[in-house]
Amino acid sequence: MITKHILLSASALMLTSVAFGQIKINTKSVGAAAKAVKAVTLSNDDVIAYTKEYITWMDENNPVAPDDDELAIRLRKLTENLGTYDGLDLNFKVYLVRDVNAFACADGSVRVCAGLLQTMNDNEVLGVIGHEIGHVKNTDSRDAFKSALMTSALKDGVTSQGGTAAALSDSQLGDLGEQVANMSFSRKQESAADDYGYQFLKANDVNPWFMSMAFERLVELSGDSSDGGFTKKLFSSHPDTQKRVDEMAKKAEKDGFEKPVRTN
Ligand SMILES: [Zn+2]
Repeated sequence: MITKHILLSASALMLTSVAFGQIKINTKSVGAAAKAVKAVTLSNDDVIAYTKEYITWMDENNPVAPDDDELAIRLRKLTENLGTYDGLDLNFKVYLVRDVNAFACADGSVRVCAGLLQTMNDNEVLGVIGHEIGHVKNTDSRDAFKSALMTSALKDGVTSQGGTAAALSDSQLGDLGEQVANMSFSRKQESAADDYGYQFLKANDVNPWFMSMAFERLVELSGDSSDGGFTKKLFSSHPDTQKRVDEMAKKAEKDGFEKPVRTN
């Protein structure tokens, strides 16, 4: 696996084996992160408003794939019927970074990293997207973001506004990025999101075996430690991956689906 950072040029984007940089989540360390927060109440609407500011910052500070990029075209095709799903308004973008990762925010923004698209086939990517949408639907994303807001150095800004969503400074958003990147979901939340992803595949006429197969790819990747710990990081927020492979496989078997042969 390639670990060096390069700058992307328009022509480099045409190659399938481009070495992307890493996802940018913050610009400095957070001294105030450990501060305890009391008595701050934020409404769900406030949290969503902050989420929108956060994702705008993320989009401005990460290399979003242009419309004519092949990975952007691929994701667009894959998600063309997913503008709304299960009562959520969704929007999708590719980040041209090498992380094997994807995330979804409470406002319905789904971001898929190039590393994931290069690692998984379309059906497996859909499984991961379904899993992430599950976190939104189950309000895991909102709850985690809210606690990141409360524990980050944003605290002062948030309280001084009396709980009303305020414009965040660049460095506040950087601080928040670290908090969000460090957040992890419980085993129970992950299982629920896996189940959601499984149903999501079925609802989209995809063999739900691909949920298990997507995690299988991650297990395979974990054998490759040459990526500077990235894969490890992904695993630390998604523990027990092999167990999840098995659980999703068992479910698909029980539902009478036949395991597809992986062709790519
Ligand atoms: Zn998850």
